Amino acid sequence: MDNLLEVKGLHVAFKTHGGEIKAVRGVDFSLKRGETLAIVGESGCGKSVTARSIMRLIPEHVGKITQGSILFKGEELVTLPEKEMRSKRGSEISMIFQDAMTSLNPTLTIGEQIMEGIIRHQKVSRSEAKRQAVEILQLVGIANPESRLKQYLYQFSGGMRQRIMIAIALVCKPSILIADEPTTALDVTIQAQIIDLFKTIQQKTGVSIIIITHDLGVVAKIADRVNVMYAGKVVETGPVREIFYNPQHPYTKGLLASMPRLDADRNIPLSPIPGTPPDLFAPPVGCAFAARCDYALEVCRKHQPEQTDVTAAHQVTCWLQDPRAQKALQSLTKTG
Ligand code: SF4
Ligand code: MG
Repeated sequence: MDNLLEVKGLHVAFKTHGGEIKAVRGVDFSLKRGETLAIVGESGCGKSVTARSIMRLIPEHVGKITQGSILFKGEELVTLPEKEMRSKRGSEISMIFQDAMTSLNPTLTIGEQIMEGIIRHQKVSRSEAKRQAVEILQLVGIANPESRLKQYLYQFSGGMRQRIMIAIALVCKPSILIADEPTTALDVTIQAQIIDLFKTIQQKTGVSIIIITHDLGVVAKIADRVNVMYAGKVVETGPVREIFYNPQHPYTKGLLASMPRLDADRNIPLSPIPGTPPDLFAPPVGCAFAARCDYALEVCRKHQPEQTDVTAAHQVTCWLQDPRAQKALQSLTKTG
């Protein structure tokens, strides 16, 4: 089995004063060894919640996985006791976040923070932990690692801090690295360096990467496959080239049309998709994109579309691609 991770029928809900928010509403996908999967969509589409669910990092008092399965190397994570899950976090599946400042401790040296994880997970001596810390800083492209280990967070630039976060995430050699908007807080030049770093790390370590982003430029540079999410569901999934050159879902097409082009005249306004995502307190009965979709049919507002194969590796969830709807449309046009 080359699927490292299999997510099936995942539902996640949050409790709020106003009621229950259905943030993730039936998500399926898999991740192979050594591949990079991008999860894209607007904020609130459920991409971060999906990632946190894999890590089982949804705080119990606010939300929970209400249905579905997350198999990691064939083992069910949804029902795994917290103690066992804790030993998987960091050592098997690791996650990095957007903002290094809030994830790292400013009062400890970088060395102490990196070595802490090594000692906790591997039960090795301090000198062995230090040797590994030096090695990992070299892997993430930080020069003079020996002296850098003695420094504090404020002594590093934004890009360097993100490299340290990546180092900490990789230090126990996880099989999966989940990166939630890892370049969003950085300027464009540094973003490009961090994306290159992910690629180098993958070549050297074979780690599988799930990258969560709203930036299609990042996706184009790094992903093998893409999940496009909308209102808590995957609406289109496929190889990166298919998604960019043969998109089928009206939402994917809208996202691509709103992507800034490097060669574009900066004075031409972008075309973001008009409207806003639906309220997930009470998701629509039909297609969640219907209110914003130029192609919406009668059936779209009444019934959820089902996933249809575009090719063996490319699936879309839209009535326009559903053979049953196409037949119905043809008979409508025939009878006038
Ligand atoms: Fe648009 Fe209908 Fe497809 Fe939804 S199912 S994206 S409303 S055409
Ligand atoms: Mg997010």
